[in-house]
Amino acid sequence: VEAQLRQSQKMEAVGQLTGGIAHDFNNLLQVVIGSLEGLQRRVANAEQLPQGADMMRFVDNALRGAERAANLTRRLLAFSRRQALDAKPTDVGKLMAGMSDLLRRTLGEAISIEAVNAADLWRVSVDANQLESALLNLAVNARDAMPGGGKLTIETANCVLDPSYVARFDGLDAGQYVMIAVSDTGSGMTKDVLERAMEPFFTTKEVGHGTGLGLSQIYGFVKQSGGHVRIYSETGEGTTVKLFLPRLAGDVACDEQADLRPVPASR
Ligand code: ADP
Repeated sequence: VEAQLRQSQKMEAVGQLTGGIAHDFNNLLQVVIGSLEGLQRRVANAEQLPQGADMMRFVDNALRGAERAANLTRRLLAFSRRQALDAKPTDVGKLMAGMSDLLRRTLGEAISIEAVNAADLWRVSVDANQLESALLNLAVNARDAMPGGGKLTIETANCVLDPSYVARFDGLDAGQYVMIAVSDTGSGMTKDVLERAMEPFFTTKEVGHGTGLGLSQIYGFVKQSGGHVRIYSETGEGTTVKLFLPRLAGDVACDEQADLRPVPASR
């Protein structure tokens, strides 16, 4: 319990710090990007000028670099929960079905996918784009952990977190949640890696292969949505990441809702 509290306090502190920096940085980058775009428009037809092609190349490179930097700050803002979320009632099963081709392509031939979806899964109120990006990040991590192939399982369930469970975590409420568990049969994590996995910029991947922002972005998004992330991992066995998203307040079962919808008058 102590260790879990210490961990969440550390994440809070890191979040405050990075959030402040990322926010200011992002504002500055928007000025840089705006100016470079202006410059780009002006040199768009500069081929005739002496060194015109060079000018265009420099501007394009600078713009690409600035956009990558802005993308990084956006991911940091997601971690520190300073990103505006567009939360809407979301059907997780439907969202996942819509991603199946993308997941298939991301994971490649050597990894099989199994989806175990609960019937009558409750709806949640989340930013669907963020949830998609979270699931894609988890799939990419799973793929990287299974270079020789393996199996990815995505399971969803309605679940109730009781007071004795939530008491172990800062700021988590007891109640009804939708759980999404993403499991792989990959390398797993050592204790040290597991402890730090959600920290921004923590990565064990080679330069150019990981930014260390995937799990921190997920952590921030889920926390901001009022939910909870748990990672279980065993070296040589695999990893399970569980996302708990609070059930949509005042939700009604889907068929009940269909009953409530007015039937169009027949002509
Ligand atoms: P990145 O993937 O860019 O390294 P993440 O924040 O997504 O950043 O992950 C941080 C680290 O956590 C990874 O570098 C890896 O060591 C570990 N990790 C994450 N997911 C898994 C997984 N499914 N299996 C094994 N290790 C993982």
